Amino acid sequence: MADLIDSQLFINNKFVPASTGETFELFSPFDGKKVAKVAEASAEDVDSAVNAAQAAFPAWSALSPIERGLPLKKMAEKITTHKSDLADLEALSMGRPVDGYFDANYAAVHFNYFGEAAYAQGHTSLNTPGFLNMSLRQPFGVVGIIIPWNAPLVFFSKKVAPAVAAGNTVVLKSSEKAPLTSWKLAQWIEECGFPPGVINVVSGHGQVSGNAISAHMKIRAISFTGSTRTGRKIQIASANSNLKKVVFELGGKGPAVIFADADLEEAAKQTEFSINYNSGQTCMANSRIYVQESAKEKFTEVFKKFASQRKIGNPRESGINHGPQADKVQYDTVLKYIALGKELGQVSLDGEANSENLTVHPVIFNDAPEDHAIMKEEIFGPVVVINTFSSEEEVIAKANDTEFGLYASLWTKDLERALRVSKKLESGMIGVNCASPTGCWDLPFGGWKQSGTGRESLLESMEHFTEQKSIYFKVRGIGG
Ligand code: NAD
Repeated sequence: MADLIDSQLFINNKFVPASTGETFELFSPFDGKKVAKVAEASAEDVDSAVNAAQAAFPAWSALSPIERGLPLKKMAEKITTHKSDLADLEALSMGRPVDGYFDANYAAVHFNYFGEAAYAQGHTSLNTPGFLNMSLRQPFGVVGIIIPWNAPLVFFSKKVAPAVAAGNTVVLKSSEKAPLTSWKLAQWIEECGFPPGVINVVSGHGQVSGNAISAHMKIRAISFTGSTRTGRKIQIASANSNLKKVVFELGGKGPAVIFADADLEEAAKQTEFSINYNSGQTCMANSRIYVQESAKEKFTEVFKKFASQRKIGNPRESGINHGPQADKVQYDTVLKYIALGKELGQVSLDGEANSENLTVHPVIFNDAPEDHAIMKEEIFGPVVVINTFSSEEEVIAKANDTEFGLYASLWTKDLERALRVSKKLESGMIGVNCASPTGCWDLPFGGWKQSGTGRESLLESMEHFTEQKSIYFKVRGIGG
């Protein structure tokens, strides 16, 4: 890998600088070294990418599913072959440890799966006498994809693969904090056999290129993963332009509910992993834990043991499972919440922070008021609150008292209680005796309330990247 990466825009199968010549610098969060010079896309660059995508759409969407599938499968192979390079690029740009980096497997599974998924795009019905009705699923045309920094390869793959498999062409904007794996995948697009304009990758800041995508009149659908705050802005820009179809995967403040009859050791181990994995920068993390009173002491002790064993350091070195926060902004935000939490005075693990390498050790607060900022707002850091409850009704009310609803977990050996509580929790995903991330990819992924709209998954994503059309076909002589 060259010392300083020169990451350009990828439009119409060509790397090009931004039309304005503007670039921004990317620094490693761990040692502050300059890692890359990245092209800052302007609204005109987004327009060029959209025009390329629009020109590519008729030929791409006319291919058979098997023809569209071949380059996707080649991309899966590339990702698998180069998994350690991809891991290293994420470690460099946003501090995610190379150890335990499963994102490349996830990405390869998605490109492989959607390489074969474009066959069943509609159904027919003979149910109404006199009609042979059919419903088709057809691509939108150009779709916009905007991704965050916390698992960029995952989001690139889970969105781009179904979008192009369905016959759309794409303009993707990477995150300004972690553009390098998107840039790397762009290097393989032509070699894998994608025609010019099918996948275009732009880099830059949200207010400019992200907004240009959200407001673009030729883009008919957007898939966005990121914060609820940005989701709202995209919704407004989209409504004010051409009312795009939007799918949003947004923020979270996930609860974990631990009943006293649960396997407490396992619950503590998994919920600790959930909140501290990726240095707490995971949308699905359980940042609010509710433990039944009689189990509190034991649960907290085991949780604290696991949290204290985190190997904190350089994310590019093996054996490290807890790197820095993604950048100084993220680090300062996390520290602001830690300071607020400390004012409450109930701390069972008092993490240290290092402003030189932006690492923050896990922090555990206890018994925080339900309406406090550390209970209500997404911190996106290794900060958990462990509160208690006595009854099932009480904990359901507390767990649901949030504007988020992405992933909730519950821990009990009582099957009926597990079913009852699962049904009552207001959340798009529930883990029973398992915390997030589960590594399961076979169910719809997405949130309730302000955690999102729509669902993504191996089974669902083809649907949101296609428009539906009902054809009422009157045929003489056809009975019921
Ligand atoms: P963010 O919202 O700040 O940025 C996400 C993307 O949106 C970036 O590419 C950014 O440049 C772009 N953007 C910013 N302003 C924009 C604008 N005005 N118009 C268009 N695009 C704009 O989020 P982030 O800090 O990159 O990521 C962290 C957030 O993402 C957290 O809230 C986390 O919970 C959420 N997230 C959700 C999921 C999920 O599946 N639900 C997964 C991962 C992350």
